[in-house]
Amino acid sequence: MTESFAAMIIDQDEAGRPNGRLREITLADLPDHPVLVEISHSSLNYKDGLAISGKGRIARRTPLIAGIDLAGVVVESRSPEWKAGDKVIVNGWGLSETESGAFTRFQRLKPEWLTPLPSAFSAEQAMAIGTAGYTAALAVLALEDWGNLIKARGDVLVTGAAGGVGSMAISLLSARGYRVVASTGRAGEHDYLRSLGAAECIDRSEFSAVSRPLQAERWSGAVDSVGSTTLANVLAQTGYGGAVAACGLAGGSDLPATVLPHILRGVALLGIDSVMAPPDKRQRAWDLLSGSLEAEKLASMTCVAPMRDLPVLAEEIVAGRVRGRVVIEIA
Ligand code: NDP
Repeated sequence: MTESFAAMIIDQDEAGRPNGRLREITLADLPDHPVLVEISHSSLNYKDGLAISGKGRIARRTPLIAGIDLAGVVVESRSPEWKAGDKVIVNGWGLSETESGAFTRFQRLKPEWLTPLPSAFSAEQAMAIGTAGYTAALAVLALEDWGNLIKARGDVLVTGAAGGVGSMAISLLSARGYRVVASTGRAGEHDYLRSLGAAECIDRSEFSAVSRPLQAERWSGAVDSVGSTTLANVLAQTGYGGAVAACGLAGGSDLPATVLPHILRGVALLGIDSVMAPPDKRQRAWDLLSGSLEAEKLASMTCVAPMRDLPVLAEEIVAGRVRGRVVIEIA
């Protein structure tokens, strides 16, 4: 087995700030969890951007290997649940926060974090989906579980549309028959968003100013990855009995809103967490992805990059300049 291999490690810099650097490590540097996996692919998520660039405190201890998504093959296992040769994926479970993460050729993992690679996807496709896609699927499930209102009642809004969660949400919602409106700050991406299934594109500036707590009813549901005033305005524009799935904070973690949409229109704010979601929810999300995601759309929203590009890509995703999804090839 390879003596040393590259890993993206979050550590304190000279000024005491945590950020990411590529370093050579060995198997002795990995935690003592029972399942050793050789990782072939990972992916870039907003959270990875924050961790590597140092723009957000993601790692709660250092040094720690970054990366929240992985796909690979089991090499050795002290757990009866897994054997050498099994193809697996991991999304979340504290990787890169409290647990050693995915940007490394080998990783040792707890058996309960592993999911079999869904048969519908290759390792590269599963990472093109990654946490962003699996989160979008959790959001779609949450909206559908809220009630069967959405199809009957009109438009579903997706904010942060050209990002990873947004691109995946548009593809899934349009494949399931909803009329999707995409909110983006990038006018140059309208053709891309229409190709994923958006029926209409609007400018995200429509949501950026604090406005009235109840506005004209525009949406029967929404998937929001932006938070802050955007989410407050989306809630204020959601129609009677509708629901908004809140996934992210790309525009801020605050929520300058009132209870009026909730108590006067019965609007639901559905919280979406991918990191600690239980296995049955994960399975439902991956089943939805297997059934509703078109391979050509997935390919059109994905590019592939080597691990050495992570520092530059981290800055790009935090600045909102990454379109769709980036698969990271682990060399
Ligand atoms: P991306 O960077 O790929 O997408 C975020 C998008 O948000 C951008 O592409 C941009 O879309 C929009 N955006 C960025 N900055 C701003 C801003 N200041 N104001 C308004 N819109 C902005 O990230 P991901 O899709 O990977 O993640 C999206 C969010 O979801 C992140 O906050 C992430 O932390 C969160 N997340 C949460 C998960 C959970 O478990 N709840 C799991 C995965 C992600 P455009 O250019 O189209 O306007």
